[in-house]
Amino acid sequence: VTNDPTSATVQLPSARLLDDKLEWRDTIKYALKKNLQVWCWISNARWELGQIHTISRDYVDILLSNGNVHSVSRESILPANPHILDGVDNLIQLSYLNEPAALHNIKYRYANGFIYTKAGPVLVAVNPFKEVPLYGRDYVIAYKQKLKDSPHIFAIADTAFNEMMRDKKFELALLDEPFCVMSHSGESGAGKTETTKFAMQYLADVGGGGSIEDEVLQTNSILEAFGNAKTSRNDNSSRFGKLIEIHFSAAGKICGAKIQTCKKLCLFAASHFMFYISTDFFSSLILQTLMHASLTRKGTPTKSRVVQRETGERSYHVFYQLCAGASRGLKEELNLKAAYKYEYLKQSDCLTIDNVDDAKRFHVLMEALDVIKISKEDQKNVFSMLAAVLWLGNIAFSVIDNENHVKVILGEGVTNAARLMGCEVPNLMLSLSTRKIQAGNDSIVQKLTLQQAINTRDALAKSIYCNLFDWLVGQINKSLGVGKCCTGRSISILDIFGFESFNEYAQDGIDWAKVEFLDNADCLNLLEKKPLGVISLLDEESTFPKATDMTFANKLKQHFAGNHCFKGERGGAFRISHYAGEVLYNSSGFLEKNRDTLHADLVQLLLSCACQLPQSFANNILQPEKELSRFRQSSSFDLQKQSVVAKFKGQLFKLMQRLESTTPHFIRCIKPNSKQLPSMYEHDLVLQQLRCCGVLEVVRISRSGYPTRMTHQLFAERYGFLLLQTSSSQDALSLSVAILQQFNVPPEMYRIAVLEDARNRILQGIVWVQKNFRG
Ligand code: ADP
Ligand code: MG
Repeated sequence: VTNDPTSATVQLPSARLLDDKLEWRDTIKYALKKNLQVWCWISNARWELGQIHTISRDYVDILLSNGNVHSVSRESILPANPHILDGVDNLIQLSYLNEPAALHNIKYRYANGFIYTKAGPVLVAVNPFKEVPLYGRDYVIAYKQKLKDSPHIFAIADTAFNEMMRDKKFELALLDEPFCVMSHSGESGAGKTETTKFAMQYLADVGGGGSIEDEVLQTNSILEAFGNAKTSRNDNSSRFGKLIEIHFSAAGKICGAKIQTCKKLCLFAASHFMFYISTDFFSSLILQTLMHASLTRKGTPTKSRVVQRETGERSYHVFYQLCAGASRGLKEELNLKAAYKYEYLKQSDCLTIDNVDDAKRFHVLMEALDVIKISKEDQKNVFSMLAAVLWLGNIAFSVIDNENHVKVILGEGVTNAARLMGCEVPNLMLSLSTRKIQAGNDSIVQKLTLQQAINTRDALAKSIYCNLFDWLVGQINKSLGVGKCCTGRSISILDIFGFESFNEYAQDGIDWAKVEFLDNADCLNLLEKKPLGVISLLDEESTFPKATDMTFANKLKQHFAGNHCFKGERGGAFRISHYAGEVLYNSSGFLEKNRDTLHADLVQLLLSCACQLPQSFANNILQPEKELSRFRQSSSFDLQKQSVVAKFKGQLFKLMQRLESTTPHFIRCIKPNSKQLPSMYEHDLVLQQLRCCGVLEVVRISRSGYPTRMTHQLFAERYGFLLLQTSSSQDALSLSVAILQQFNVPPEMYRIAVLEDARNRILQGIVWVQKNFRG
């Protein structure tokens, strides 16, 4: 059906903010003449509902709820829906679709305990910030048996499951590709990760009966311990993006899972997604999500959370859990102290989270590790690495000359770190205070300054943690192995980390009201073009040892001065006019992040360790380089060392290929207030979120075909009284047809859909009515 909003062939009209304004005026005049009540929204600091009293050429008198009459220009009001439409399940059903109407509907539902609303094909989920009785077994069963049809994450998961089970073609053609993707977007703390878990819970239930669904659910505890942290916006903020594939047997039982993480989502995400799937309607949503995700990069990059962060925020949960919950034996083995003894943990002045018992969580984590079948030996190795990271942070330096060169102070930091990693203390001390540099055929040893030494120590700690995370994900995937059960049936859930702040946007002067579906070719050129695009220039600059973030920013200014998508550079920060608005990128740290290499001396140190994990980390780091050099030898191409951007492109390309071969379902999580409190609804915050993800545009597009869809029954009930002649024997379909005919509604304005069973009995009938038809 070409008018189906869920098909990818929908033409994108440019978004219109005011809906059918002119036509509405005629309605007002007509209604007033007939002494009918007409409601409208007036913009009065915030949208307020009023009743139209009189209307003149330029002004409208509005009766407000407090009894006052307000005279406003005709331009400043928007049509409100009749009360009969309050709280409809899907915004598509609103007669008038404008911002206040959408906001009102979502708020109305939220206030009545309905946290989910459909916005065309998108599920909008407003975070309740409290336990709500919506996820019990009774709900699972009700959705499984289709006893309920109100919008719910379970309904989406159920649709995805049924689509996956139905599709025969897929079984033949696309092995190892997920079939359905559920994607969440939303600000940090909006509820993406929780919603992901509810979706998994539902799938584990409908696909239960195997042995593995419990393991699949347990992965959450592990990933959260290692990948989540307390930030100022969310006590349990995911600091990585993840794609979870859940695989099913032909009988629909869960038989495996695979997790892919994407810790390096950065500004380039947006451009690559635009590039590859810009024609797809849904991709515009993904893309906006990614663009927002990219803004987190303005803050501390993900892995540096281990060593540095804002006051009041924490490092990854697992560190605090380990310190609080380790058994006496483990504590002795790791020489573990309380969290406040560690520089890396105490520096942000926040060691605990309200209502969270880290010790208890540690036991939950250990149980999850058992369920996933991580051996006790490996578990101990993991904890040793965590302790090593903490002890590295306690290593201090003393300045030894007037050039600020340093040596490592021999203390419990360095001795414990070395012991836990399995390397010699002098080796560790040397690697942290000197650097070998290749000069022609000779190598010279250079002493490090205090700042360089601190950076080196922190880089080592970050690298160990990052590699540990990747290693764990690898172990989980091994344990949940998909290989054995590869039927090709799978559902993937994409949980991308949210951006941290809206205020940031406001300060950047991003006018989200301007979100439109635009041709983004120029912006793409700016980012992508070779050799002169932002990304190529970044790659190039990263290869110059002397280059800095400033030289990079200057280069951009030089090259793009005349480009209308490049909105200037100041003090290292530059603006790009993106798809969804202008974004300010602070280039600080760009080069380092793009190089993302651990100095060769440290890789050698890890390689020399007696413990197994550091060795495998070193091999992991060396692996791409080995592959690259093999590739170089075998081909005549002169390849640059693979930068983060290049790697990231590869990752995204794979993800993108997946998305293209799937039926996506979108869930947009909304944070109703910034205080993480229940029953508090900040209008402007919600509006901003709805705007910047283009929810209204999506609904408008969905409606631009045949937006109003009513069952024959409802249509006949609602409009039947208009008929001049009726006979009580008429069925709903005949009545509907009679109504449409009596008013000579042109046939192109409606469709009548009928679903019949084998004996030609009408099971379901829907009248589809064109947008500019008003009954
Ligand atoms: P995000 O992943 O979008 O950053 P989270 O999923 O971590 O956000 O949600 C933040 C917090 O909001 C959770 O820790 C939880 O307390 C609360 N929350 C989110 N969704 C729900 C829900 N459906 N029901 C109850 N509480 C929720
Ligand atoms: Mg999250």
